[in-house]
Amino acid sequence: MTARIRPDLDSIPAYVPGRSHPGAVKLASNETTAGPLPAASKAIAESVELANRYPDNQSGELRAALAEFLGVEPANIAVGCGSVALCQELVQITCAAPTDEVLFAWRSFEAYPIITQVANATAVTVPLAGDVHDLDAMAAAITDRTRLVFVCNPNNPSGTAVGRAELERFLDRVPAGVLVALDEAYYEYLRLPGDHPDGVELARSRPNVVVLRTFSKAYGLAGLRVGYAVGAPEVIAALLKVHITFSVSRVAQAAAIASLEARHELLDRTETVIAERDRIRAALLAAGYRVPPSESNFVWIVLGAAATEFAAASAEAGVVIRPFAGEGARVTAGDPHENDLFLRFATDPETVGRFVRAGV
Ligand SMILES: *Cc1c(COP(=O)(O)O)cnc(C)c1O
Repeated sequence: MTARIRPDLDSIPAYVPGRSHPGAVKLASNETTAGPLPAASKAIAESVELANRYPDNQSGELRAALAEFLGVEPANIAVGCGSVALCQELVQITCAAPTDEVLFAWRSFEAYPIITQVANATAVTVPLAGDVHDLDAMAAAITDRTRLVFVCNPNNPSGTAVGRAELERFLDRVPAGVLVALDEAYYEYLRLPGDHPDGVELARSRPNVVVLRTFSKAYGLAGLRVGYAVGAPEVIAALLKVHITFSVSRVAQAAAIASLEARHELLDRTETVIAERDRIRAALLAAGYRVPPSESNFVWIVLGAAATEFAAASAEAGVVIRPFAGEGARVTAGDPHENDLFLRFATDPETVGRFVRAGV
């Protein structure tokens, strides 16, 4: 007889690695195409020399650097093995009973329902309205069982963002005992002039707001796994209690510090990515696709039932993108030549003839 495993895990699909397409361009995971900066590579190489030693479990130096950068105290910052680990830890610090609810929009970050189920809590979802968070409906869905609300802004995979005024109106409606996690994995790509929603700014005056950011996207360190949370010291202290010990490696901490120091170079790159993202969207719109405005480093193509087939055809054409069955496909803005390759496929008259009608 095999060991008894929680039967409810049967409903979580086993991880299936994407089919590999040797030599294909990868625009599927919202990574940056460029490798680490020379300063980060140097820090990585130096820190590897101490691989026989455990890392600093509190990430003290990185937290101090982040605190200075953000204008907060180190006690306001927790570091995690990618911000997805912090998402999981947020569920762990808020939910203790199966009736405890985690509320989020759908479709949003695919990790939210999984980590909620793994924590044995209850997921409550509110549909996006026209590819954007419906914050009024989310506020209305809060009950006395709600413990945690994820607001992914800009949203993955729809790419859309809500502005500051709308976010504040929503936060005003959330009871003080409910923790709101603003997942800002794509913050560095967000512009929204005039109504710029800066979670860290909002969290300053609201102890029930915690912000998640990451070094995986604009900072280009997806493979090293480091993200951070900014919030009230009580929330941060709880996060440290459930943190998987030593899960943020010395190499990750060193690379993050070096990348933070070199942030101007990295943040300058976001302008190029944004220009490419807008170029991709314009070309897709001109070809007749439905593509909501994006505030991230990717575009969302609404394809309905054709999503999976579209992504398979794109992979055949040499560009791997991320389908969401029955809904759409997410395409990361990469380097211009990579994006050109995707657009050559997507705007080809044969592709347009086959797929454009499907999403309408
Ligand atoms: C990519 C992403 C993250 C963070 O990923 P990590 O690599 O774990 O830091 C978090 N939230 C969303 C919505 C993302 O898309």
